[in-house]
Amino acid sequence: MQVFTQRREIKTQVANWRKNNLTVGYVPTMGALHTGHGSLVDQAIAQCDRVVVGIFVNPTQFNNADDLEKYPRNTQADIDFLQPFGNSLIIFIPDAKEVYGDEVKSLHFNFGELENKMEGKFRPGHFDGVGTVLKHLFEIVTPNKAFFGEKDFQQLQIVKKLVEIEQINTQIIPCPISRAEDGLALSSRNTRLTPAQRAVAPFIFKTLTTLKEKFVWLSPKELKQWAEAQFEDQEELELEYIEIADEETLNTAHTIDNNKTYRAFIAVFAGDVRLIDNLRLN
Ligand code: AMP
Repeated sequence: MQVFTQRREIKTQVANWRKNNLTVGYVPTMGALHTGHGSLVDQAIAQCDRVVVGIFVNPTQFNNADDLEKYPRNTQADIDFLQPFGNSLIIFIPDAKEVYGDEVKSLHFNFGELENKMEGKFRPGHFDGVGTVLKHLFEIVTPNKAFFGEKDFQQLQIVKKLVEIEQINTQIIPCPISRAEDGLALSSRNTRLTPAQRAVAPFIFKTLTTLKEKFVWLSPKELKQWAEAQFEDQEELELEYIEIADEETLNTAHTIDNNKTYRAFIAVFAGDVRLIDNLRLN
């Protein structure tokens, strides 16, 4: 398994693969890898001849300097994690200069109605940062397919929009959410939870699953109120938002149209650790 840090190494490698008519899959991550990332790598290996796993903690997508500083980083553990996936993997671990050049700054995109709600609303500038880094990384790796988790569902829709507006020739493949046995969505940030916070964190998924049961007989407004009330008694967890939204547009649902698919989206703080999750409701 090779580890590349330079954009020209990746470009040369990908050009060689292309000469041999091999398809390239790409799994961009911010490291601190867990089996959720592993499930994306599995899908990429199943669908592509060669796979690049990217590890880069992207500064421009953090609206909170403390969150960026505390983001878990362990490159050697990540390399060890990827070893069993096989020798044909390439790991790309660039520094900011390799990705951005001399100026580490966000471009501005128009993601339309997808961008100013939920993560976009509570993390200003976040999706411009995501769009910028992916635009640069897609230009370097030029993958046929790139794999993204539904864990970050709004990001997934934003990335689909990015490739459309920037005319990037990469197919975006959504991958289901991997969860711990108790339902907690796997996340690099989970390692920062105290034992007490980790013990109550599955309450997030439990609330989503109960909400799904109630979806058939409560209106979206009633569902939201019910979920908000659940968090009032939770000392370790502070609800930031809960939204019931149309999966395609991410617009808040007011009434239910049986021809559409809806999801519940949630963001919760456990101390200073921010956790997000979502669940399809119909
Ligand atoms: P991150 O390293 O958190 O930026 O995530 C890199 C990719 O892995 C993104 O496409 C995430 O949506 C995806 N991912 C993270 N956690 C999970 C999970 N629990 N299940 C599925 N995909 C995930």
